[in-house]
Amino acid sequence: MRHFAVVGSGPAGFYTAEALEKAYGDQARIDILDRYPVPYGLIRFGVAPDHQSLKAVSKRYDKVAESAGVDFIGNVTVGRDISVAELLDLYDAVILAIGAPHDRKLGIPGEDLPGVVGSAEFVGWYNGHPEFADLDPPLDGTHAAVIGNGNVALDCARILSKTHHEFEGSDIVGHALDALDGSGITTITILGRRGPHQIAMTPKELGELGHLEAASPIVDGADFPPPEADEALEPGHRKSITILRGFAGTPADDSKPKRMVFDFFAKPVRIEGNGKAQTIVVERTELDEKGAARGTGETYEVPASLIISAIGYSTPPVEGVPYDERGGKFLNENGKIGDRLYAVGWARRGPTGTIGTNRPDGYEVAELVAADMPPGSSSERAGASGLKQLLATRGVMPTDYDDWRKIEETEVARARPGSPREKFVRVEHWLETLGR
Ligand SMILES: Cc1cc2nc3c(=O)[nH]c(=O)nc-3n(C[C@H](O)[C@H](O)[C@H](O)COP(=O)(O)OP(=O)(O)OC[C@H]3O[C@@H](n4cnc5c(N)ncnc54)[C@H](O)[C@@H]3O)c2cc1C
Repeated sequence: MRHFAVVGSGPAGFYTAEALEKAYGDQARIDILDRYPVPYGLIRFGVAPDHQSLKAVSKRYDKVAESAGVDFIGNVTVGRDISVAELLDLYDAVILAIGAPHDRKLGIPGEDLPGVVGSAEFVGWYNGHPEFADLDPPLDGTHAAVIGNGNVALDCARILSKTHHEFEGSDIVGHALDALDGSGITTITILGRRGPHQIAMTPKELGELGHLEAASPIVDGADFPPPEADEALEPGHRKSITILRGFAGTPADDSKPKRMVFDFFAKPVRIEGNGKAQTIVVERTELDEKGAARGTGETYEVPASLIISAIGYSTPPVEGVPYDERGGKFLNENGKIGDRLYAVGWARRGPTGTIGTNRPDGYEVAELVAADMPPGSSSERAGASGLKQLLATRGVMPTDYDDWRKIEETEVARARPGSPREKFVRVEHWLETLGR
């Protein structure tokens, strides 16, 4: 028998567990650990609440959790409740799938002013992440800005621009829906250091902006290279650019009170305000020979009392695990960190790719594990029983699959009309549900 610990129950953790189960069958026990009593990582706390069809991927993960060789052990934070070295004593292999939950810093003056928030915080706030339940982003101004040109920036801008009615069927958390109902924001500027060709936004997410009830996308046609330049683009990307060009060719709909303004070639240089964010000073850029943004020296001001930076994420370092400071992830070679220690998903490759990208990643890492300790081989490690004994001596109470189900059922049972669930937003609330 082999015992494997997969740390993190997001997509990467679940795909790895699925692959390990396929490779080892009843020759292994696989424990998926998570710091929270409920699983799914960014499927629960990141993917937008108005994108329910994407969240349905969790049904596949449920099947993995229900399979005979796999257990969920929640409410255990690795690096705090138990170290990686201790896990390696208890398990044959430890696979770190802890994602990249920290916002990258802008590195400009004024970014610590009230009103400036990272996208992990903002997204966590509207998705019911316990750490960000109290964020209270300022929504009383008229102007907001989102810094970044990826899908996360689009998610933030779209959530700010939607009406109450448009959240029907979503699982946006109640406190965010109430706050957004009272929002005064009418202009959301999306700032990108480079041009339309350099965006990392996908067609589906961009296309949605053309159908918003209360907001029009505004794009300046002068920002685009000549149309022939689109021919060299990869088809999906070309589609995104075609959608953007379509927005540029469509006048703003005056019957809609909100504007989502794409400001390309705009590099934030500082944030100013009297005790809180009021303005971003932006430098106009152009592309250099290598396609990087080069400042032109011309600056201007973008008003914004809420500023969301959506410029990427990093994995937090964990004691005893080699760390790649520049990449903001664990130092690893194709998923291998060291003897019996592996990384997968965003913790392995950094914060890029879709949910599906984590599948081949998980399968690849499971193959590495199987090559290092072939199915059929065995060891005398204690696995889950040893883990639980150790945690008990530390007063840590892990949760299991039944606890997770009880929490989910309770959330669904207390859902508002039109919402699939009403999420618990504090760890204490989860534990209360379990009678602890
Ligand atoms: C805002 C946002 C929106 C997105 N929307 C989409 C989308 O619409 N479509 C799409 O395809 N992709 C989307 N993605 C990307 C997708 O979410 C990621 O590709 C995927 O979640 C990465 O999986 P992961 O398992 O590596 O990390 P995560 O999903 O972050 O999972 C990490 C898990 O590890 C746990 N953990 C962290 N630290 C510890 C610790 N110390 N001890 C124990 N457990 C720990 C966490 O609680 C979490 O459950 C989005 C990403 C973001 C940020």
